[in-house]
Amino acid sequence: MSKDTLTITIDGKKIPATPGQTIMQAADAAGVYIPRLCWHKDLPAGGNCRVCTVKVNGRPQASCVFPAEEGQIIDNDTPDLKDFRCRLVEMHFVEGNHYCPSCEVSGECELQATAYRLGMITPTLPYMRPKHTVDASHPDVYIDRDRCILCGRCIRASQEVDGKSVFGFVGRGAKKKIAVNAEHNLGETDMTKADKAAEVCPTGAIVIKRQGYRIPYGQRKYDKKPIGSDIEQK
Ligand code: SF4
Repeated sequence: MSKDTLTITIDGKKIPATPGQTIMQAADAAGVYIPRLCWHKDLPAGGNCRVCTVKVNGRPQASCVFPAEEGQIIDNDTPDLKDFRCRLVEMHFVEGNHYCPSCEVSGECELQATAYRLGMITPTLPYMRPKHTVDASHPDVYIDRDRCILCGRCIRASQEVDGKSVFGFVGRGAKKKIAVNAEHNLGETDMTKADKAAEVCPTGAIVIKRQGYRIPYGQRKYDKKPIGSDIEQK
């Protein structure tokens, strides 16, 4: 094996990696799916949702940002990690207001698809029923904060790809929410529906208007195959 290639072991399977790759990048290339929510293929990794947590030599690490190194022994598909991820996803459901049966993104939502993939049937924690606002002020895009999981994708996309900084977080803890760079609402910003920030939301929190329900239920991306199937089929 050349020094430009290293070997890591995930769930007992040896896979190659290259220096500079994260564990997730090496796993993806080898067809090993690690669940994730805040990660997006076209954006710098955020490392904030923790759904992609694996155990590296026994210690929990966010695989989207943790570098692959020679000889790492990594646990990914284990009952305790699956349970940990399931609890994280469950918290998103009880901390927001997610109406999957009527949401126009149902079947394409990564939160919903990840919950299915992890086997979450119904939350075991009490629903918090927070009061959130919908911002429909923009002619082409709306924000439904009930469905925001604070993944930060829109922030990274607007900053790193669009060069606009339309989005940001305000508040802390349970009061943390997605905000826009304007005095009142999204309609006052320079966002357009062609912006990367308009396409990367993993849920129905940022949606382009007048394109919902184009694909009927039952024929959508995750109606057909579980999330992560594209990686596992490599
Ligand atoms: S609006 Fe969407 S992309 Fe932005 S933080 Fe919320 S869930 Fe993530």
